[in-house]
Amino acid sequence: MSKSLIVQKYGGTSVGTLERIEHVADRITKTRKTGTDIVVVVSAMAGETDKLLKMACRLSKNPARREIDLLLSSGERISAALLTIALQARGIPALSMTGRQIGLQTDSTHTRARIKNIDTQRARKMLRENHVIVVAGFQGINPEGDVTTLGRGGSDTSAVALAIALGARQCEIYTDVDGVYTCDPRIVPQARRLDVVSYDEMLEMASLGAKVLQIRCVEFAHKYKMPLIVKSSFEEGDKGTLICEEDANMEQPVVSGIMCDKNQAKITLKEVPDQPGIAANIFAPLAHASISVDMIIQNVSEQGHTDMSFTLQREDLREAMVIMDKVAKKIHATHVSSDAKIAKISIVGAGMRSHSGVAAQIFKTLSAHKINILMISTSEIKVSCIIEQKNSKLAVNALHDAFNMKGKPGKMNAKRKTAKKVKAV
Ligand code: ADP
Ligand code: ASP
Ligand code: MG
Repeated sequence: MSKSLIVQKYGGTSVGTLERIEHVADRITKTRKTGTDIVVVVSAMAGETDKLLKMACRLSKNPARREIDLLLSSGERISAALLTIALQARGIPALSMTGRQIGLQTDSTHTRARIKNIDTQRARKMLRENHVIVVAGFQGINPEGDVTTLGRGGSDTSAVALAIALGARQCEIYTDVDGVYTCDPRIVPQARRLDVVSYDEMLEMASLGAKVLQIRCVEFAHKYKMPLIVKSSFEEGDKGTLICEEDANMEQPVVSGIMCDKNQAKITLKEVPDQPGIAANIFAPLAHASISVDMIIQNVSEQGHTDMSFTLQREDLREAMVIMDKVAKKIHATHVSSDAKIAKISIVGAGMRSHSGVAAQIFKTLSAHKINILMISTSEIKVSCIIEQKNSKLAVNALHDAFNMKGKPGKMNAKRKTAKKVKAV
């Protein structure tokens, strides 16, 4: 482990304009002067990935995932090169690197590849030669030598994986908020910043729609105990959130966060014959296409037929509908429909294990605001409801109030401050 190495990741808004890139270059220059070795990972400039995706979709209804990967990877390359040019202009010896050049090897699942290995030989040599390395995030190379990408928000995962592979002392994620909040501060302005969050809670939060961190990056950080710090690139100072191992003395809050995932869609198959093997017929082809399904609901059977609904990520909807049209013919379902105007609202809290009544309180609150629940799912430490997307802001604000999460840091935060602190540079 290199005690002096840190990995810093700057997200899309942090490198969104040339002025922002200059600002990031100034920050890195300052840190560099403290004698710290730095590897920087950058995202594409804000909006760039969406813009490229839209261009592809104008040319084809179903563009090949391999081509999408090559296209999207260019966004991060632009930021990496521009930031490196800005650093060099400040007299900092810096070099930009693509995923391939930094040795980030993945499997072959285009657009959502998983990291298999990082060959750090070249990076270590560059660090010995005193370079700041600026890596284009979100991308790697598969065994065939083709460019892959790591799924939306994947630069977070590039950063954590590099921090682990290079033995950095911590990984800092710089973004447009100064930490992880009880809820997305864009939806609930009174949301409260959490000083410390355990890996377990962050995993739930990320998987339920807190897009401040990609879930894979939290999984990696958890597995290899890499301290993660989320901070704002727009503000100076030490404020931020530390994500680390749970302290044994840490009190488990009943509710630690409310997540809202608007990136969901629902597919319904009507009048599916209710017989063994039907679920396998529906879900096996989706699994084969690496499409993850979230909630599944099967209605009560009537005259040997039933309706089946399930949710998935909206970006997979188009491909899933192509598959479901074929499946519906095969299993003799009468109709397939989709709804992309839904949202998943989730309440997370490790203390739910030992406290009852959270689900009841959620249902009561939503009903008081006349919000209809379309689907429900629960686990030990979370309750999720699918609702109409137009009600999501109202629902999240109402629940945030109902669980009294705003205001000054309460007992939960005070206790959490006792967790091991890792100082952000
Ligand atoms: P970047 O481009 O830096 O990767 P993202 O847009 O991916 O930034 O993530 C930062 C955004 O995550 C914030 O602007 C905020 O709106 C959103 N967000 C969602 N949930 C949370 C949360 N619980 N705490 C903080 N930010 C959140
Ligand atoms: N640019 C990619 C995205 O918009 C990856 C990232 O920003 O982390 O999803
Ligand atoms: Mg992000």
